[in-house]
Amino acid sequence: MRWSQTFIPTLKEVPSDAEVPSHQLMLRSGLIRQLMAGAYSYLPLGWRTVRKVARIVREEMDRAGAIEMFMPAIQPIELFEKTGRKDAFGDVLFQFDAKRGDRSLHFALGPTHEEVITDLVSREIRTYKQLPLTLYQIQTKFRNEERPRFGVLRTSEFLMKDAYSFSTSLEELNDIYDAMYKAYCRIFERCGLEYIPVEAESGPIGGDASHEFMVPAPNGEDFVVRCTGCAYAANQERADTGRMSSVLSAVDSAVDPVAVDTPGAGTIDDVSRLLKSDAASFIKTLIYVADGRPTAVLIRGDHEANEGKIRRALGVTELEMADDATVESVTGAPVGFAGPVGLNCDFVADHDIAAIESAIAGANANDTHLTGVIPGTHFELSETHDLRNATADDPCPRCDAKLEIVHGIEVGHVFKLGTKYSEALDANWLDPQEKKHPIIMGCYGIGVTRVVAAIVETCHDEGGIIWPTAVAPYTVELIPLNVTDEITMATANRIYDQLIGAGVEVLMDDRDQRPGFKFKDADLIGLPIRMVVGGKGLKDGIVEVKRRTDSDAARVPVAEAAPHVLKLLK
Ligand code: ATP
Ligand code: MG
Repeated sequence: MRWSQTFIPTLKEVPSDAEVPSHQLMLRSGLIRQLMAGAYSYLPLGWRTVRKVARIVREEMDRAGAIEMFMPAIQPIELFEKTGRKDAFGDVLFQFDAKRGDRSLHFALGPTHEEVITDLVSREIRTYKQLPLTLYQIQTKFRNEERPRFGVLRTSEFLMKDAYSFSTSLEELNDIYDAMYKAYCRIFERCGLEYIPVEAESGPIGGDASHEFMVPAPNGEDFVVRCTGCAYAANQERADTGRMSSVLSAVDSAVDPVAVDTPGAGTIDDVSRLLKSDAASFIKTLIYVADGRPTAVLIRGDHEANEGKIRRALGVTELEMADDATVESVTGAPVGFAGPVGLNCDFVADHDIAAIESAIAGANANDTHLTGVIPGTHFELSETHDLRNATADDPCPRCDAKLEIVHGIEVGHVFKLGTKYSEALDANWLDPQEKKHPIIMGCYGIGVTRVVAAIVETCHDEGGIIWPTAVAPYTVELIPLNVTDEITMATANRIYDQLIGAGVEVLMDDRDQRPGFKFKDADLIGLPIRMVVGGKGLKDGIVEVKRRTDSDAARVPVAEAAPHVLKLLK
């Protein structure tokens, strides 16, 4: 390809609204342009990389035994009503009415395809003889993200590979899951990404039923908790704190807590400033409504509540923060002064509450806190739970070594679904005795466009992108220094033809521009190999060849130019 004949609108300046490197570099190197918030066009260079990533994904899916198909993005809302996901997705689900004659139809744009594929399978699959089966597609997904941001890392329209497995037994599901997990490792490796498979929320099947694939990156929106000693890694929702349950009995002859005035100080920050005490000596009392019942959750002041863990500890499905009226009715005080002593509702406590010897807590009275609160004495503590996010201060739940917390970008997710969708949509199989069972499902997603952004986010330097060869839009950038010089162009064209003939993807920068200008663009778009033809070198019969990561170029005789590149690519 010749630069003059394609469309690569590079930018010198860093666009002011682009916060993270991948967003800046993808705009500057002419890979993408924004149409509106959350929606991007992929320009020729960007689209080539998207297609290369998609090809790698296809090859590995096919190798793992999955079969490609294609489903509509436009979907009847009734399917989402049947699975309850119309409500679960809420505003994230794009929905719209459309008139067809005198009928009014209601549609959704697929945020993912569990409903569509399970509905299809429910109609077409009858018996165990047709199973197991793993189907996949690469297709556009629509999610009305509350905050689309960071370029194509989080968009409202993005390309996803989504696979779904259908099986008759957990053993079959586990085999497919393992094959998908391994395929994911190969895919991300081939894309040149560093990645960490982490344990994630496991849903109905429990156990080791879900993994996210995270690319460590300072701007990643997810938190990964991982052990510095062993292979343990989990996302923050899932990570155990490695703490033990405690039972505290009452201390005899303990003095009563002391009520102190804390006017207008309704947050831990306010009160700790006022009382000059550390947040770790506070009991944070959060009032939730759990399956309709007001329930308090006690967490140490410097810790963060984890709603998934709270839901599991309480054995409830619905959990939301109580509104002000509910808080006032169970505490008898305005919001901000709840505490465990004299609280008018059930409560659960985090393990670390038991370790606070003398705590500060809300007094369940306006503008008042209690100091000297002894857990187990001033309020009952017969059992504690893991209810909070793990921190770097916690021990590894597997080996006791230190944990660390790193930011990550979620590029893929594998999940053992069980029978949630097959039961909702009546997808069953008949065993040899003609007995009916719900099909056991798994789902497996990769954000293809997010993978491209994650590569740029993690593979770049001050000058621009550093593409891993397997996903680079082109492999070689050929730069004739003076395009008006006949000998230079004749040589460049000859090498271009040789490389193309050898199956190498070459982009020739044939623009009539200064060398410095072209070199800057070459670093910016970051192709793996740069070859410069012309000037004094050419007079001596040599061209300069340099990998994007080399600081110095190799001087190669013109006749050796193409073979030299092929050698570098081996
Ligand atoms: P996130 O937590 O980042 O919102 P998710 O867990 O909702 O993602 P999944 O439903 O697991 O996403 O979708 C599978 C994959 O699709 C994700 O692992 C991610 O790579 C990609 N993906 C999800 N949402 C987006 C988005 N808004 N923009 C780009 N890629 C996305
Ligand atoms: Mg996910």
